[in-house]
Amino acid sequence: MNMKRIKNCIAGCVVAICCTVAAMAIVSCSSEEEIVQVKSEKSYTLDEGENQLVVEIPCRRTWTITGATDWCVPTTTTGMGKTSISVQVTSNGGEENRTCTMQAVSDDTRHTIKITQYGAEVITLPVVFHVLYTDPSDSLQYIDAGHFADLLSVANDCYAGAFGGENLRVKLVLATETPTGETLAMPGVEYVQREEAEMNCAEFMYDNSGKYVKLLWDPNRYINIMCYPFSSDLDNENGVVMGISHFPYTHINNYLPGLTAISYSYLSLENLSYPYCVSLNSRYMYGEEMYYTLPHELGHYLGLFHVFSEDDDETMCIDSDYCDDTPSYNREDYLRYLTWASQNLPFESFLSEAFLREGCSGEQFRSVNAMDYNYGAQNQFTADQRTRVRHVLRHSPLLPTEHNGHIQRTTLHDGPLDLPIVTMK
Ligand SMILES: [Zn+2]
Repeated sequence: MNMKRIKNCIAGCVVAICCTVAAMAIVSCSSEEEIVQVKSEKSYTLDEGENQLVVEIPCRRTWTITGATDWCVPTTTTGMGKTSISVQVTSNGGEENRTCTMQAVSDDTRHTIKITQYGAEVITLPVVFHVLYTDPSDSLQYIDAGHFADLLSVANDCYAGAFGGENLRVKLVLATETPTGETLAMPGVEYVQREEAEMNCAEFMYDNSGKYVKLLWDPNRYINIMCYPFSSDLDNENGVVMGISHFPYTHINNYLPGLTAISYSYLSLENLSYPYCVSLNSRYMYGEEMYYTLPHELGHYLGLFHVFSEDDDETMCIDSDYCDDTPSYNREDYLRYLTWASQNLPFESFLSEAFLREGCSGEQFRSVNAMDYNYGAQNQFTADQRTRVRHVLRHSPLLPTEHNGHIQRTTLHDGPLDLPIVTMK
């Protein structure tokens, strides 16, 4: 075949293809039924107590939704054009996750909406108390292992709603083995002898040099609780610092208000330069207050804020914990009143007054929430707090959950990352 013939053949083929395209276009325009539907799918997840969801409908023409179930009902089933609609979801009282698959269908689009709602299963969290000490004969450094079991038992009662309030269905358990798989002689407790025991807790928590990371066990397998005597630098007239905790991160795709958003779905121990943990002041480990300090600090670790107004402006009273069912109050006002009451009221009256708070809208209530300070029961949680905690346990990295237990190595990032550090006392 010479060169001229080849050129002719190519030209002939091109002409033939053009004709085919033209013929198809004519057929398509003549009959609407033959428009090829574009298929797409979008998945959504909801916590067991969440009742409303907004879903996108990407159809450009008239659409119809099918596939609703008794627990998952769209507010409308027909419409026109690209829009968003609400879906009403009833709370899932069962232990298992459940899924509802709906279709939004129009002439040119077939869009699948997959809604998965988590179940109300009990989430088990292994805990390890790291006892940092210099002198084994000092009982306020070398804390008795049995005492940690007592503290954790009371914390579990708080989280289960045993004192009133909601059951968060979270079970804290003493870890039974070390990261290398050895059985722990004393479950959930590790004693670490060091050259210095007393530390400024804020300096410890914000240390980003990497030197304290070696004290941690993999946060994707354990909640690390460091116990050491806090130096008294941070104590003031309102009291001593009993504990301090880091806050969890939230992923940008499953954002939880108030938490620091990051773009990493998974983080590992090797990504940390600071000791991501809860710290407890071992000086006060045997005091009554420690029984409600532990659930409080764990509350921060699981994404909860204080229930009182934390605006810098003392005259402001705002709800700063992202939970509608926890009444807020101005703590500065409360502390001023407390000072006055302690000087002017007989002790019995002072005590009953001290348990009361004046809410931002002037209503009076008795303090029972675990995320409060000062006088109060401090042993209860609300439904909105449960929703936050369970959201964190399902979506945040660095927590000992099933979700983080299935980390895919390919999604991990090597070496320390520059992660923002957020703490609360
Ligand atoms: Zn706190």
